[in-house]
Amino acid sequence: MGTDFTAYARADCEDRPSLAVLRVQILARAPSGVAVHALGYSLPCAKRGVQVTIYADRAANVSETGGPTFGRVLGYAIAHELGHVLLHSGGHDTAGLMKDVWSKRDWERAAVSIIPFSATDVQRIAAFHRRLTDRDIPQLASLHSH
Ligand SMILES: [Zn+2]
Repeated sequence: MGTDFTAYARADCEDRPSLAVLRVQILARAPSGVAVHALGYSLPCAKRGVQVTIYADRAANVSETGGPTFGRVLGYAIAHELGHVLLHSGGHDTAGLMKDVWSKRDWERAAVSIIPFSATDVQRIAAFHRRLTDRDIPQLASLHSH
């Protein structure tokens, strides 16, 4: 039994600049028809609107069936889906935070340790971030340290 992290991407997404604002919505319930183990989804190439949707009931289900606390499952789900947006990609790794289907063992590990982005993903996210200009993110300009 695993958890399905699904993203939808278009091929030209990688060449676009990152959006300055990331929007996440948490719905109380997954709509009917959503794959049974899906915790949410992301739209890495969306030009506007909500890029990440998370289903609270699905996160609760993972938590109640031997997974980490609800808050921790929610955090991982948000981090994973935001990862797609920050990486401009619907792609997955074979292990770690960006793995596509998390097994019960993955969740057990996530309950007692921190599952981070891979070093490669961190570098890619940083590279996209450097391409943002101050004009793109005036509200965050004061947070720049370089
Ligand atoms: Zn994913």
